[in-house]
Amino acid sequence: PVKSKLTEELEQMDVQHYLHPTSIPGQVPKMVFESGNGIHVRNTEGESFIDGISMLWNVNLGHGNKELGKAAQSQMEKIAFASSFAGYSNEPAIRLTKKLADWSPDGLNTAFYTSGGSESNDTAFKLARLYYQIKDQPKKTKFISFVNGYHGVTIGAGTATKIAGFHRFAGTEMVDVLHATPHLTECEKGERAHPDFEKSARHLIETEGAETIAGLIIEPIQGSGGVYMPPEGYMKALRDLCDEFDILLIADEVINGFCRTGEKFAVDHWNVVPDLMSLAKGITSGYAQLGAVMIHDNVKEVINTFGNVMAHGFTYSGHPMACAVGIRNMEIMEEMNLVKHVKAMEKVLNDGLAYLNDKHETVGLCRNKGLMGAFELFENSASGKRFADEKKAGLQYVEDCFQHHLILRALGMADGKSIIALAPPLVISKSEVESMVAIMDDALTNFSV
Ligand code: PLP
Repeated sequence: PVKSKLTEELEQMDVQHYLHPTSIPGQVPKMVFESGNGIHVRNTEGESFIDGISMLWNVNLGHGNKELGKAAQSQMEKIAFASSFAGYSNEPAIRLTKKLADWSPDGLNTAFYTSGGSESNDTAFKLARLYYQIKDQPKKTKFISFVNGYHGVTIGAGTATKIAGFHRFAGTEMVDVLHATPHLTECEKGERAHPDFEKSARHLIETEGAETIAGLIIEPIQGSGGVYMPPEGYMKALRDLCDEFDILLIADEVINGFCRTGEKFAVDHWNVVPDLMSLAKGITSGYAQLGAVMIHDNVKEVINTFGNVMAHGFTYSGHPMACAVGIRNMEIMEEMNLVKHVKAMEKVLNDGLAYLNDKHETVGLCRNKGLMGAFELFENSASGKRFADEKKAGLQYVEDCFQHHLILRALGMADGKSIIALAPPLVISKSEVESMVAIMDDALTNFSV
């Protein structure tokens, strides 16, 4: 099909001047997004697609929300920007901290603002080290993260990220930190028995020495690594492990947070209270660049005794417009009782996955919590036989769905798996979930690699 002049012009400029994140340099963009409404997005050709992955798991309230646009505009018209350094503050940033404290697990009453998830995790690492420096345990500098964890791409977060390709991309390394990833023999064999992760974390702590470890970071429900659910009791076991060895538990809720999993935060499913909690993405439903680290009172009390300038912060920490959008975003989530809606839609998506699982021998290992789900493609799921070219299978299926105007994402290829991630905007209706499932069903019926 002939493309419009606008699309051609944009594609040309893109190739010449735009180096994209997480893309092969020099490629023509697959499509140029132009607008959106609810779960739908449109490209510059005027074609409409279902956004089955909320763009980058972040557009929780869906596209085209006028209320959020208004919140941004009216705040921007008041003041361009307000420093939050050196004793200055601003009203939206203050009010958002209160709201975040109200939403967070008990004891997490203080927020430090960033511009996104990687900065939130780097901040959590620095706060953890500062905490132990103040407590006269300066050797506690290391962190434990998990195989297939994704924590971002800055030098600190990119070291904690343990997905092939991303981990230490371009030599990324957290300075003076031995990055302690629980390399599991089990995992290397291809099994992913989560309870063993706890054992492996214990093993690591004991070999490295608890006196050298500041924090353990985990996505309660692992996102980009493959949408892996922790088994019952797992988060609690990690909390106990951290208490036993005096290590801070850092929950990376960058994807999990803001109702994505059917609770405000994923840790709420298990009543586990982390010491630090990293947030971003759904904090503004993607409408503004904002992240935060929630800090437990136990950590804050120690930090309060520091007495010096805490020499850490970003120009855009507490940006008034981003914070105003954050407040309105959370108010809307409360007004529409989003937690309840997501729980109801969880059931519809689960039913859809069960249907696909029954009907197609290629579908297996379906899982979903709230609206964070996945299934895996097999040549034969009953026997567990995977496609010879797993990478191709996942990408081919995502492309087939794209041709049916549904945007999805394939994960796990580096592990020899084709995991199809599902994370639509949380405002999705029952019939819209059913439309997604119908498209996936069609694409599965005609699927061949
Ligand atoms: N943590 C998790 C769990 C994420 O999924 C991401 C991004 O996808 C990040 C951190 C990094 O966030 P950002 O891309 O905003 O830096």
